[in-house]
Amino acid sequence: MTQLTDPRPMTGEPLPLDLLNTVWMVDGEPYDMLHDLAGLHIWSHANGLHVPLVERTRRHLVAARDAIRAVSSDRRDTTGREALNRVLAHGRVLSSGGPGGQVEHVIEADTESWEPGVLAAYGLVDLLERTPDRIRRCEHPTCVLWFLDTSRNGTRRWCSMERCGNRAKAKRHYDRQHGER
Ligand SMILES: [Zn+2]
Repeated sequence: MTQLTDPRPMTGEPLPLDLLNTVWMVDGEPYDMLHDLAGLHIWSHANGLHVPLVERTRRHLVAARDAIRAVSSDRRDTTGREALNRVLAHGRVLSSGGPGGQVEHVIEADTESWEPGVLAAYGLVDLLERTPDRIRRCEHPTCVLWFLDTSRNGTRRWCSMERCGNRAKAKRHYDRQHGER
């Protein structure tokens, strides 16, 4: 298998947020890695998902991403919630008891092309249940990256200090020097 290089500035977030991070800013414009099947290949490979690398899969995944972004941005956004529910309706959770008394959950999609989007959507539901107030978008106004704040106090503000935290600090310093607030 050839080595795929993931060009994204941030990786390693939980699946639904990792999906949102397929869009990032390049020279002031949003760049969408899922604009073609090569990007789909890189993203699915990075997440250990074996998906049909066809246009239908890409379209369904982008639909799931739009819904996840809408709900993550505004929990009360009806359109976003309905879109997320439409994606969730393409999947189901199969629960079973394991030998040690534990319960195992497996998520299934109705078609292979929906599988990655469905997994991400159920992943978001899981985050919304467990850690809803830790789903964050980077606070830098021109950054579109997302992360799960796992800091002890829940005070993380930036995708990364190097990329956005320092930029914001520099801007505050500049504003102070120039008498703006
Ligand atoms: Zn950022």
